[in-house]
Amino acid sequence: MSESASPVYGQSQPVNLLGMTRAQLADFMVSLGEKPFRAQQLLKWIHHRGVDDFEQMTDMGKALRAKLKDVAEIRPPEILKQLDSKDGTRKWAIGVGGGNVVETVLIPDGDRATLCVSSQVGCSLDCSFCSTGKQGFQRDLTAAEIIGQVWQAIKSYDGFGAKKRIVTNVVMMGMGEPLLNFDNVVAATDLMMDDFGYGLSKRRVTLSTSGVVPKLYELAKVSQVSLAVSLHAPNDALRNELVPINKRYPIAELLEACRHYISCQPDIHRVVTVEYTLIAGVNDQPEHAHELATLLKDFPCKINLIPFNPFSLSDYERPSKNATRRFWEILTQADFVTTVRTTRGDDIDAACGQLAGLVVDRTRRAARHLSRRENSEAQIINVVNKL
Ligand code: SAH
Ligand code: SF4
Repeated sequence: MSESASPVYGQSQPVNLLGMTRAQLADFMVSLGEKPFRAQQLLKWIHHRGVDDFEQMTDMGKALRAKLKDVAEIRPPEILKQLDSKDGTRKWAIGVGGGNVVETVLIPDGDRATLCVSSQVGCSLDCSFCSTGKQGFQRDLTAAEIIGQVWQAIKSYDGFGAKKRIVTNVVMMGMGEPLLNFDNVVAATDLMMDDFGYGLSKRRVTLSTSGVVPKLYELAKVSQVSLAVSLHAPNDALRNELVPINKRYPIAELLEACRHYISCQPDIHRVVTVEYTLIAGVNDQPEHAHELATLLKDFPCKINLIPFNPFSLSDYERPSKNATRRFWEILTQADFVTTVRTTRGDDIDAACGQLAGLVVDRTRRAARHLSRRENSEAQIINVVNKL
């Protein structure tokens, strides 16, 4: 059981309060013989003011502060390294123990700044074009480690006291498949949207999934986050190659689950963001665009095209500007709201799909992928050293 899904109180290990939702914190305070409203005070100290020391929580009595100090802690994951791109993008390497590192990226864009957050150490799903997938899987992040990425990003800009929000949007598009770490991702995204947490609107917190269909039905019951699905292909034969989980949950089932998800949302006009990574010669031809337009006809969505970001363990190539434009034109002419994601943070490897972190691979997938490549000796030495 995860730290935040089922907190165990009164044991010698201090309980980390950072990843607890309002309801979990209220239970915790009651377990200490306190009133549940204390949870709101705690949330404000932790997530509005960035305080990790109970001593500073001056609206709680001395005795309560001492009690909290005895049994609890507020422990964010540790920032190991910060990299700043020329274009303002900032990437953090975050240590999560056992030699594992995940990555978080902040992408400023005018008035907004989007934080790309990781949900797992590595990923078990092995999509053929994804750098995280090539690393294998180590473990789920705790809710504290997920929300801690937001906490650390704001801290890093000295932003807890700032009038203007540093992080205006969060996307669960870093390392890992969020729906395979369900409880912790739901707890962390709840905190992002809670007024006593980060107060982001549900339209500004997006969960991206490669299509874990049963979990989408579960999510519909408990969450209101915005949904993005990684489609990447207009038919099952091609998607089976690119996104192996498609063999288990094919496109028709995935789209049906997405429809169900948005039908459960209280607000009308909800749409799903369809992510489509364009890979040269693989899925970027005009016939793919036409087939996609037919597939998504009547599906409530907008489409985000992501030119493939190359990395050294992949033979795929980025599509040409012409192919990208042609693909965009076909979808736009078919009346889809279609955007092309610009690559940011190129100089610090912060682009989508390049977040590799450092995963001590349980499946030894990294080594397997490496051994298939004869011409990437430098990379082999690099990764093997890191392992
Ligand atoms: N596991 C989730 C979220 C993390 S990946 C998912 O798959 O949706 C976030 C997005 O980056 C996904 O749409 C993914 O398909 C895309 N992506 C992964 N590797 C990429 C690459 N090398 N170039 C461009 N996009 C990539
Ligand atoms: Fe995992 Fe998403 Fe990468 Fe696929 S694209 S391997 S699901 S992180």
